[in-house]
Amino acid sequence: MRRESSKDNNHTRYESFGEKALERLTTNTAADGADGEHLPESDAPEEQQQQASENVSLLVQTSPEKKYSVESLQPFSQYLNKESSSRYQAIVLKTWTGDYESPYFEVGLVHIKNGDHRNGVVRALRVSPFHVTFHPLDEAFFEYVHSHLYNAQAQSLALEHQQKKQSQKTKNWGEGQTTLSDEQTRAAQAATEADYANESEEWIDLTNQEEYERNIRRSESELTTQEFIRLILMEFLRSGSSDMHIEAGQPTGRIRFRYDSEMFTRWDNIPFVKIKQLSMGMAETSGKDATQMKFKDIDSTIKVRALRDGRAADVELRFASQPTLYAPSIVLRSQLKPIRDIGAVGFLPRQIADLKAAYSQKRGILTITGATGSGKTNTLEAIYAALEEPDIYKIIEIGEPIEIRSARRTQMSLRPNTPFSWWDAFYSCLRADPDIIGIGELRSVEHVSLAINAALTGHLVLATFHAASVEDTLSRMFQMGLPRENLSTGMNLILAQALVKKLCERCKVVDQHPSDVYEREVYKSVGCPQCFNKGTRGRTAMTELLYFNDEVKEWIQNRNLTARDVVHKAMDAGYLIPMKAVAREKVLAGITSEQEVAAVLGLVESKRQYANYSYANAASSAESSAIQETINQHEEIIEGEIVG
Ligand SMILES: [Zn+2]
Repeated sequence: MRRESSKDNNHTRYESFGEKALERLTTNTAADGADGEHLPESDAPEEQQQQASENVSLLVQTSPEKKYSVESLQPFSQYLNKESSSRYQAIVLKTWTGDYESPYFEVGLVHIKNGDHRNGVVRALRVSPFHVTFHPLDEAFFEYVHSHLYNAQAQSLALEHQQKKQSQKTKNWGEGQTTLSDEQTRAAQAATEADYANESEEWIDLTNQEEYERNIRRSESELTTQEFIRLILMEFLRSGSSDMHIEAGQPTGRIRFRYDSEMFTRWDNIPFVKIKQLSMGMAETSGKDATQMKFKDIDSTIKVRALRDGRAADVELRFASQPTLYAPSIVLRSQLKPIRDIGAVGFLPRQIADLKAAYSQKRGILTITGATGSGKTNTLEAIYAALEEPDIYKIIEIGEPIEIRSARRTQMSLRPNTPFSWWDAFYSCLRADPDIIGIGELRSVEHVSLAINAALTGHLVLATFHAASVEDTLSRMFQMGLPRENLSTGMNLILAQALVKKLCERCKVVDQHPSDVYEREVYKSVGCPQCFNKGTRGRTAMTELLYFNDEVKEWIQNRNLTARDVVHKAMDAGYLIPMKAVAREKVLAGITSEQEVAAVLGLVESKRQYANYSYANAASSAESSAIQETINQHEEIIEGEIVG
């Protein structure tokens, strides 16, 4: 297993991530031509640079049309303090204000290929890396300018600038002074250092549609790292995916999106060096020191301004990195925004009436069941929202951990392997005199009997349970050996749910050959740019629920009836609408398609076959050239769906 190629050797060396290695890396990749880092100046003829170093002039030519002097640079010295300037051998050449009042910088750098220097400057300026462009600077010129720029006058400018930034928060001791003592310089430096640790405060503007259109058509290898990061973020936000994963590997890595709960590969075969740069660039974008990612996991946020339905919207992306075998792996999550309206979850009107009857009581258990990722948390949140609305109850929620925050209820978040257990939380919660208790998941017979006790002593209890259906829930509770009388009096409602994908409103078409008979036209998915060529956009809940009315309670108490008997009786009496019937309603309403329902309920062919089928259909149909164009444009996506 000897690695022969020089490229692989670079990778192994790069694993000992340090300043030297980084420098080597960037140098090597630039030589390889694999590096997308766009440094037009690096092509500058060597003679020109030599000339400049021999001829120590006050002027340097960063690009033909620009000339800089000590005088013209003086005002900019306020932005980069003296120490950072000399440490990174950088000088601010130009600044201006872009859209949304964001400051932009042009910075001259002696060691332009040194990533640490570039990152250091970005942190010292405390802006997004997208707002800084670098130009190579001759060392002699830097030395000259640096020694002249940072005089007493410049120091006072720097101080003024710092104070201006701070005065928005609080007045500071020492205000009004015009020079900094050594001690104050160090203190200011320390404050800046501490700021490095803070999360990025800049909003990154990703609303430029033309930039997206232009770059999505270009080959990724032509894009600079920052252009590519912007493109990735734009694509991620545009896609409506819930999370994005940058996964480094040898020799290549990939970027995957999770769209409607499924992962698919958006960019594949990204050279290792490139993906490492992406990871580091992302970390810098989130305001973190990229070099730390090698050793520990990092949590942060990236704040972006993106286009949502044609309007600019602020979105916070949760950034998490883990040090992995090859390079840090990164996950970006779009912050979960729960539906806090029962009407919007996806219930049928009759079901909503049952649900309201169940949670309007002063006591009893509401059990919400479904597989992982079936939207239980959201449904629970919608119920909490309804209970919080009148603001007359004391609500305590125990979470392992709490997933959705709300200021209107008391939330106890439990962490594994801590002395404060679920039992401690539960008993302390009872002492706090709540009206409503959210107890998390019912894991064992002890949990269930405790919940029943709480319900019988006059509390409304919200709980989740792992089961696929109402029948499944009942039969498992019967098996637990709990007295049926307790179950029947303790329970208010069992709700089972699954999520089904909704058809994209833009591109759904009438299904000419539905496999079942319907009294009206039903639809199927096609795929368009709006839905990322998936044919679906968003998901809705398919639910079945059993409200424990007096009749149902009687059936539960009857030991001769099995769970199945109870469910069948409830269906016959019209108390329970099975999930399949709810699904059919949704197909009829044009919200979803037979195939999507089948994929969830597992009735027919696998999802993969379905994807094949719909792709073949879309490709062969001559319906519109627009669809064809999309397919060409997003070839990787379709591949990801079928192959990946
Ligand atoms: Zn569509």
